[in-house]
Formats: sequence, structure tokens, C-alpha cells
Amino acid sequence: MAIVGSGPSGFYSAEALLKHEINIKVDMFDKLPVPFGLVRYGVAPDHQKIKNVTKVFEKTASNPKFSFFGNVTVGKNISVFELNKFYDAVIFAYGAESDRQLGINGEDLVGSYTATEFVAWYNGHPDFQDHHFDFSHEIAVIVGNGNVAMDVARILCKTPEELKGTDINQNALDVLAESKIKEVHVYGRRGPVQASFTAPEIKEMGELTDCYPVIDPKDLELNESSLKELEDPANAGRKKNYEIMQHFLSITPNGRKRKFVLHFGRSPVEIIGKGRVQKARFEINKMTGDPNKQKVRGTGKFEEIDCGIFFRSVGYVGLPIKGLPFSAQAGVVPNQSGRVMDSEQIFTGWYVAGWIKRGATGIIGTNKPDAEDTVKSLFEDLEHLNPCEVPSSEELLKFLKDREVRVVTFDDWKKIDAAEIERGAKLGKPREKFSRVTGMLSTI
Ligand code: NAP
Repeated sequence: MAIVGSGPSGFYSAEALLKHEINIKVDMFDKLPVPFGLVRYGVAPDHQKIKNVTKVFEKTASNPKFSFFGNVTVGKNISVFELNKFYDAVIFAYGAESDRQLGINGEDLVGSYTATEFVAWYNGHPDFQDHHFDFSHEIAVIVGNGNVAMDVARILCKTPEELKGTDINQNALDVLAESKIKEVHVYGRRGPVQASFTAPEIKEMGELTDCYPVIDPKDLELNESSLKELEDPANAGRKKNYEIMQHFLSITPNGRKRKFVLHFGRSPVEIIGKGRVQKARFEINKMTGDPNKQKVRGTGKFEEIDCGIFFRSVGYVGLPIKGLPFSAQAGVVPNQSGRVMDSEQIFTGWYVAGWIKRGATGIIGTNKPDAEDTVKSLFEDLEHLNPCEVPSSEELLKFLKDREVRVVTFDDWKKIDAAEIERGAKLGKPREKFSRVTGMLSTI
């Protein structure tokens, strides 16, 4: 079996495949020379504990029936159809790399950024190191109420001291250390009860060294349906969020210089500026409808905020791989319990897992049952799978060598890993990642 993508959904798929009593060999591909996808490049650097999940993935990788082939881009170095020649089945678990657009004027202005590119940049992703972020302005706006918006806000609001013991990319840390940002304003289009961030993340925003949270008490006033949603036992997490935000009302600056400001019921309609971001314009919304089914409606009233930096953080979307069915609207590969399909047929032997299967939702652990669901489908199909023409990883490696692809193995990764940890130790950090592919390859 082949797995395309070495993030959480890829590794949980490998674990589920290798647990089975039949003799399965798993080859995992990644376009980068290094494994772990979202854990390495998505999880915030100041949330190191979450990254411990890589220990579980390393255990899977130590299985003699598992191989890692990094630095191989499926769809470029090898097509999905060529992969079929070497594998009885392929699980595509390559995540959701792109971001959703707002579709408003001004999104392309200088100073308007996506959370996706900022997160990848501060996490040292090689594809994003030439992006430039200008933090010489005092007011930053973030649109979106998810955990990624919280990650972005926290990284902007923390002091260099709070970040320096993390594995944040050193270049990003140096740039952020010069930041002139004094206020970070986060805008949600719905209310405080509908925000999708989770309690630990919003709570942290009240516990920063040099930043205090601000919220207009009017933004915490709830309509009848939201009050009912709050009391629904199924919404315990949202209630916790609300309690934390109520507590924010009593927090005073206490000498702290930066402000983290929450706004609700505001939809962005335009980013305004001559050449670069100068203001953001929002329509004030009203929520109507029954509990858990409320819709937002614009009121025709607008407000503006002066700002020099604008981030959109409104969700990740997947990208297509040539030859694989894709729904551009949903940003996923259409599937039935992980079986890849299009409007006419199911593609026997092709499966999906993780964000490219269900969209960019859930925490890392959500990918375990999701991958198990896909692997269950695969095992149900086992006797209908077409045996591949060349069931040999050695032949596959020869094929890639002929195409001058320098394949990186898991043992190679361990050398990169050791070198990064050593680089980090010199800086008092858990690791200093190589932020260029050439740097990674130079250690092996
Ligand atoms: P998300 O949780 O889906 O949040 C997206 C936000 O964007 C929502 O608040 C959504 O509002 C808003 N939005 C979408 N379209 C919009 C528009 N046109 N105008 C204004 N707002 C708009 O996505 P995410 O923050 O990118 O996170 C992705 C997944 O990773 C989530 O499951 C998240 O929990 C997870 N994650 C977890 C952690 C952690 O555990 N620490 C950290 C980072 C990410 P509506 O709700 O109104 O649609």
C-alpha cells in the first residue's frame, strides 16, 4: 500500500494498516524531505506538548514493514497512475494546504496576508520563507474565529521572551521581535457562542505577559436562541468559551502594553488602502433563527477600523492532484467512507483520509478514527483490489532514481532531526528547523 502525505492522517492510516493480521507493506510519500506535515508546520511552536504525538508516529515508522520516501511529489515526480503500477492501493492523506478567500475588495493589498502563509512561515516551512510580513504598523486585524485565528493572534501578541524557548523559526522570531503591533483585533461574523475556537486557546489570551484581552460587554449580549444554545449540554465547550470571555471583562491592563480585542457579529466587506492596507470595513450582522440553526444577516450598518495589517483566517482548503477527482467547491476529494469517487464511479484502490477527505476540521486526534474508517473501507474491498503490476519498492526507487529524484528515507530524516535538535540547543530551543530543502539535504 502507498500513503501520500506524512501528517497525522497519513501516520494514523499507516498504523491502522500495519495492525492488520495480513501481511501489508506500507510506503509513505511526502513532497518534503521531512515527515509529520501539520504537526511540524501547522501546530503552533508554543504548543510543544501537542508535537509529542510524533513519538506515536515514530513507533509506526519503526515497523520493518514501513518505509518513508520523502522529497517525492506525487503528481509531479510520479503521477497517481504511475503509483498504481507499484501499489495495490493508495491512500491520499495530503491535507489541505491552501486557504479560503474572503472574496472582498482589497484582499491583494500589501499588508493583507493569509493565516496559512503566516503559520507556515513562522513554522519554517521551506515553501514560505520568501514571504515578507511587515509588522511596522500598530494595529492588526484578524478575520475568523477558529483556533488558527487564535494561534496567529497569540504569536503576534507574545513577547520575544515568551517565544524564544519554542521551535519558532529564528528568522520569524527576529522579525517579530521588531514588531510595532500594539493592538490585535479579531473579528467573528457570528456571536461569542458560535465561535469555533476552543476554551484552552481563548483562555491563553488572558494569560499573556505583555498583552491584555478587551471585549465590549455589548458583544457578549445574547439573543434568545444563543442563550438556549449556551444551555444545551451538547455545547459545553462553547459555554466554557463564553465564561472565559465574560471573565475577560474584569481583566485590567495592569501595565501590559498590547491589546487583544475581540469583536463579534461583524463580516468583512472591504479592505481599504492606497497600495497597502489602511482600513478594514465591516458590516454589522444580526443573528436570527432557531437555536443551532441561526443565520447571520447584514443590517446595512457598517463600521471601519484603521489598521496596517490584515489577516484572513477563515479555514484551510485542499488542492487537487492531477488525475485524482476533486471538488473545487468543497476543497476535498469526493469520497464515500474514504473511497475516492466522482459523480459516476468509485475508483477501486484509491482512498482518502484526513483533511483532504473531510475538510479542515477537528484536532490532530480526530484523524485517528477518520483514518481507521478509511482503512476499514480498504479492508472491506480487499478481494476486489486489482493487484499491481510491479509489487516492489526497489523497482519504485529505481523508477524515481531514473527521474533524478533524491528520495529521503526515515533514517535520513533521523539525521536531519538530530541536526535540527543540535542547532536548537545552541539557541536554547527544542529545535531549529532547516527552513530550506537544501539545508535538510545537506545533512544526509
Ligand atoms: P475553523 O475552525 O473552521 O474556523 C474558521 C473561521 O472562519 C470560523 O470562525 C468561520 O466562521 C470563519 N469564516 C469562514 N468564512 C468566513 C467569512 N467569509 N467571513 C468571516 N468569517 C468566516 O478553521 P481554522 O481556524 O482554520 O482551524 C482549522 C481546524 O484546525 C479546526 O478544526 C481547528 O480547531 C483546528 N486547529 C486546532 C488547534 C488546536 O487544537 N490548538 C490549533 C489550530 C487549528 P463561521 O463559524 O461563521 O463559519
